Amino acid sequence: MYRFYINNITDEYHYLELARVFLPDDGFEIIPYSGNNVSHLLGVNSFFINEACSSDRDEIKRELYELLSGLCGIRPPWGTLTGVRPLKPALALCSDYSVSEMEKIIRDKYLMRPDKSSLIADIAEYQLSQKLGDASDKASIYIGIPFCPTRCEYCSFASNVAPAEDHVKYLSCLLDEIAYMGDLAREHNTEIESIYIGGGTPTTLSSDQLSLLIERVSASFDTDIKNIEMTVEAGRPDTITVEKLRAIKAHGTDRISINPQSMKDATLRLIGRDHTAEDIRKGFRIARETGFEVINADLIAGLPKEDEDDFSASLSEMIDLGAENITIHTLSVKKGSRLKEHDPSFYRKNAETVSNMLDISRQMLTDAGYMPYYIYRQKHQIGALENVGWCKPGTHSIYNIRIMEDKQTIIGLGAGAVGKVYYPEEDRIERIANVSNYRIYSERFDEMLRRKKLYYE
Ligand code: SF4
Repeated sequence: MYRFYINNITDEYHYLELARVFLPDDGFEIIPYSGNNVSHLLGVNSFFINEACSSDRDEIKRELYELLSGLCGIRPPWGTLTGVRPLKPALALCSDYSVSEMEKIIRDKYLMRPDKSSLIADIAEYQLSQKLGDASDKASIYIGIPFCPTRCEYCSFASNVAPAEDHVKYLSCLLDEIAYMGDLAREHNTEIESIYIGGGTPTTLSSDQLSLLIERVSASFDTDIKNIEMTVEAGRPDTITVEKLRAIKAHGTDRISINPQSMKDATLRLIGRDHTAEDIRKGFRIARETGFEVINADLIAGLPKEDEDDFSASLSEMIDLGAENITIHTLSVKKGSRLKEHDPSFYRKNAETVSNMLDISRQMLTDAGYMPYYIYRQKHQIGALENVGWCKPGTHSIYNIRIMEDKQTIIGLGAGAVGKVYYPEEDRIERIANVSNYRIYSERFDEMLRRKKLYYE
């Protein structure tokens, strides 16, 4: 057990987050300390940090990072930058500095590896070039469908394998919630910028149910889907049928997401999926024939028993299939997943392999004409690495950008949906979460409706 006594701090949160990148949760303690006389506390594996009594958090984190690097023999590439939105501090700097000046500032401030600071610079450059503007007076909508055909080994989402009658009951409540929130939004003249139907796997629902759902959203929020960005996740190819995709497309949806995660059949079996790589190819064919303009494909770097060749073969096929958006996730092993139960320290392994996979993806996607356009990090990702959304220029998802900016209200509907209200005067977000269990969502439905009023209080 390591003990880090940190001088002149009151809140250990940021230092805990940094130490977690290097050490397991039960392998260290961060102890706020005040004063210089610590010699009586220091024994084997105990260290005193910030002897100079600085009040600059970044300076203290740099000292802690260097100490941990020496102790553990690694230099995590994101340096001292913790938190899930690495682009936020960078974009804030871009109002006063050029992108290249910003890149140098973040590299020095966070001890960031140059390939990561240049990735941030590329993303900032792309977003700035698209002139996305301020949409803080608008809102976007997220709708959760918490059903999947089977549960993936690494899944920690509100996702359930449930009988068809549960889908019917759930949808009935969800349609009421949409209508209720739509009334409120119309009363307050809220303009909708984008809609995202995720989960779970929304295409677990039937084509009639999908039609009902989209019609209800369009009517309740008085929004013509054809005029805004709308994405429906069709993540699991075994749920895709011509009828379902036609139903989604008929209402003006222009984007879907088919998420292979890997194109290796052995991996798909290992992670608990009930489909093959051929089903993914078929899903793409149906989506193209139905006329979808933008298809996103998610891949995961770091799946069990995969190496760099497996990963690059999957990516190569996604590029060949012509996905307009490709999102490269680093595997995150969170509580609630079977993988975490079976191997709690899985995310501490294979950091070098996964880092290589991300390097390969950057090279291949850049060579194929894709641009990185959004980025986020999650807890318990292998090597404390990142997720990056790539797009063919001009095909980015505005919803993905807005959700990472934290400068727009996101209306969350359905079980597991976490909405947020943006207060522009204070540049502050407040979260409003529905319960994640779909049965409790139906049972406590009145409470879910009452929570909707919070969006306008
Ligand atoms: S497809 Fe996504 S939501 Fe469904 S079980 Fe797999 S990881 Fe979970």
